[in-house]
Amino acid sequence: VTAQERNANPNFEPPEASLRPQTLDDYVGQRDLKEVLRIAIQAAQGRQEAIDHLLLYGPPGLGKTTLALILAEEMQVRCKITAAPALERPRDITGILLALQPGDILFIDEIHRLNRLTEELLYPAMEDFRLDITMGKGQSAKVRSLNLARFTLVGATTKVGSLTSPLRDRFGLIQRLRFYELDELQQIILRTAGLLAVPISPAGAQAIALRARGTPRIANRLLKRVRDYAQVKQQPEITPTLASEALDLYQVDKRGLDWTDRLVLQTLIEQFQGGPTGLEAIAAATGEDAKTIEEVYEPYLLQIGYLARTSRGRIATAAAYEHLGLTPPNPLLP
Ligand code: ATP
Repeated sequence: VTAQERNANPNFEPPEASLRPQTLDDYVGQRDLKEVLRIAIQAAQGRQEAIDHLLLYGPPGLGKTTLALILAEEMQVRCKITAAPALERPRDITGILLALQPGDILFIDEIHRLNRLTEELLYPAMEDFRLDITMGKGQSAKVRSLNLARFTLVGATTKVGSLTSPLRDRFGLIQRLRFYELDELQQIILRTAGLLAVPISPAGAQAIALRARGTPRIANRLLKRVRDYAQVKQQPEITPTLASEALDLYQVDKRGLDWTDRLVLQTLIEQFQGGPTGLEAIAAATGEDAKTIEEVYEPYLLQIGYLARTSRGRIATAAAYEHLGLTPPNPLLP
């Protein structure tokens, strides 16, 4: 596909799209969330209405975009995908809203990053399916209201706490995505391997799952790297040994931590005596962006108990010291 073709179709999905499950039944894990969505879908279909606006939150790569596409598939409607940074000028959002047809899903990623003007245009759009456009300036300014199709807004965010309350309150459903269990990740890897026609044993899939940080996107990425390795080493099947060898080479360790995760922990321990230390100080010392640490790296380190957050900053736990082969200071940290 050329860049020109890609630009001609703003909804263009990368080839990865073929790996996405298309129905709720194919979507692995997130049991409670799927049940909530099944009820929302059935109820909306029964009333022949659009589903209520839905806010999905949780760390990146857990399948929020995939869920929005599945909702569209199940409701047999279209899904327009965009992200807050692409909605800079008011006309970016008004153009999209006016093009929506009844029932359509509008997916906005990183919704906590909307600017104020765009966000304020969304309030009446979400609540009354109305678009208020201000014409002219100063005293002669007039507000014109246009009717919109009844659509469903699906917002995705890694930072639900950063949403303003007027925006948050306009979502009828607010749902959190959780990190995946080992057996769920194994199932996702086996499914993807099937789609990519990569021979893999269940134990091989489990070995990759162990290092996938509870995240399907990472599981699929690691699988592709192990596939490359197997191909070059002329191995017919991905076994646990082969998977471990390959992932060691890519510096993904036994808990799935990569180079940056280890750098964050090491910095906290070696330069800040284990903390407590503020996020900004860690960012400056590691050269990583504070937002990226907070939204991408930290959630998993918190989840596995290597990092703890206190009111005075981040601390490295005894488990983090042990993981890095260091001796925790006395008295033992939690
Ligand atoms: P984010 O939550 O950051 O929006 P995302 O929705 O972009 O993450 P996806 O890109 O949808 O994450 O998911 C990454 C890949 O993982 C998808 O291509 C899909 O193949 C796979 N995947 C995600 N969730 C599941 C799941 N529950 N079951 C099976 N495969 C999944």
